[in-house]
Amino acid sequence: MFKISRPNLDSLRQHGEQAYPHECCGILLGHVEDDGTRIVTTIARCGNTRTDSAHNRYNIDPKELVRIQREGRNRGEDIVGFYHSHPDHPAQWSKTDHEEAHWIGCSYVITSVEKGKAAVTNSFELTGSDENDKQLVDEKIEVVES
Ligand SMILES: [Zn+2]
Repeated sequence: MFKISRPNLDSLRQHGEQAYPHECCGILLGHVEDDGTRIVTTIARCGNTRTDSAHNRYNIDPKELVRIQREGRNRGEDIVGFYHSHPDHPAQWSKTDHEEAHWIGCSYVITSVEKGKAAVTNSFELTGSDENDKQLVDEKIEVVES
């Protein structure tokens, strides 16, 4: 399961609206409970380095990823997931999303942005043991009111 506060959920959805018609992307930081539930406590917005086809691809600069991971650790947070938007496409993962997902045990959150307005937000857990059997599996988003 995946837990996120209303303000953080709104923030990542708004990022999708602001980046429209391009894809936005970012990193979710927080911690993992003993039962495997991922709890997001901080959202880190990233620049999309894919300028060639930023409407249907996203890429996080590895340097930015390392910096965000380090800053998170200083606050006692780990990377628990990633998010991006699908401008005028459903909130379902694409073949490319699956190929480019490498963090097993993390959540991959996708928001569809229709004509500039955030529509559906879905989350998928990357399960499996390695690159060969990894799968993106639907997971429930629980919104924590805070
Ligand atoms: Zn995608």
